[in-house]
Amino acid sequence: MIKIDNLSTSYETMDGDVHVLNDLNFTINDNEIFGIAGESGCGKTTLLKALYDLVYYPLKIDKGKITLSGTKNGKEFSYDSGEIRKAWWNNISYVPQAAQSVLDPISRLKKQFLDSIPKEDKHNETEQQTLERVGKYLEQLSLSPDILEAYPFQLSGGMRQRAIIALATFMSPNVVLADEPTTALDVVVQKGILLMLMDLQKTLKNTIVIVSHDMGVHYQITDRMAIMYSGSISEIGKTEDIFEHPIHPYTQGLVAALPRVGDKSAKEGIPGRPPALKNPPKGCRFAPRCPYATDRCRSEVPVFREYLPGRFAACHKLEEEGVK
Ligand code: SF4
Repeated sequence: MIKIDNLSTSYETMDGDVHVLNDLNFTINDNEIFGIAGESGCGKTTLLKALYDLVYYPLKIDKGKITLSGTKNGKEFSYDSGEIRKAWWNNISYVPQAAQSVLDPISRLKKQFLDSIPKEDKHNETEQQTLERVGKYLEQLSLSPDILEAYPFQLSGGMRQRAIIALATFMSPNVVLADEPTTALDVVVQKGILLMLMDLQKTLKNTIVIVSHDMGVHYQITDRMAIMYSGSISEIGKTEDIFEHPIHPYTQGLVAALPRVGDKSAKEGIPGRPPALKNPPKGCRFAPRCPYATDRCRSEVPVFREYLPGRFAACHKLEEEGVK
């Protein structure tokens, strides 16, 4: 389980700090595929970096706590004590955005696997024995062990992505964080990657956190999801509930804009653009685009709270009128 308490982050710039995540409070459960959706620049990737403790200048954690529990040895790793890095590979792993290009272009995949597996997890094996284990794991994922002899450029984009996912999951981590795992892949390959992630989650019984701007990805694969807007979370709930009955006006706009089978009506996106994080509006940041915005919305930040069991949102309209 990952618990996020009052998490706020910012990027240091020449013109002062740009606040990117604002007081996030939520939990990602064991044994679920959890999605994080939202438009570009809403803070999805920053959130994933914070969860994995990939926090380097100019990014900084301003306040809050991240706790990873339910790990293999029962140990709890908290960001505050700098311990999440000790959980890398074995308990938490990361598939970065544009993962296909993070492989070292001049090393064969076998070297990249050998270099990534922590020494203590090689159990005094010879390189050949470790590679045999890796080969067997690749076969479980329907990948040929022959790819270990390949350089990244010899593989297709989809195959490189599969290899990265294999690398990230080889140690059977409790949590896998995947940032836009299907971006830049064609639809058929995307489907294969999503199926691979679903199979892995079923086999490992772990938690997979997927960041994607593509609502279709969340619909197909996630159990629960968070909708982010301008550095905050607008709504969290079971994925089927979010798609069937979105309660936050931003989520309603996102879902209404999705194409549906058999529906030939023209779909319109939400008018306007997200605000610049450097100079966001006061109150609810969605107010300039929200059809229900009131003076209160323009002056007071809505509180993120539970409106239905397991259903959280931040909206004054919901607070005043309840869920309809
Ligand atoms: Fe719209 Fe107001 Fe709710 Fe923000 S708080 S989403 S502006 S109704």
